Amino acid sequence: TYVVTENCIKCKYMDCVEVCPVDCFYEGENFLVIHPDECIDCGVCEPECPADAIKADTEKGLEAWLELNAKFAQSW
Ligand code: SF4
Repeated sequence: TYVVTENCIKCKYMDCVEVCPVDCFYEGENFLVIHPDECIDCGVCEPECPADAIKADTEKGLEAWLELNAKFAQSW
């Protein structure tokens, strides 16, 4: 899955939401999140994010963000 991280917090752009083929972005508390079970790992959103906030979960050190993305996405 892909995961939304820190830089999203002040970002007001929604480019990622518009390009996602499966609509798996949801509103978190003060940033967008990706639903880990719905994301198909296409990677399309990553280069579209002007804040560089979207990462592949294969990157290290994202555990806390993965947890937050799952928590907020699943609360919808
Ligand atoms: Fe949506 Fe693809 Fe980004 Fe996953 S990687 S959130 S499916 S655009």
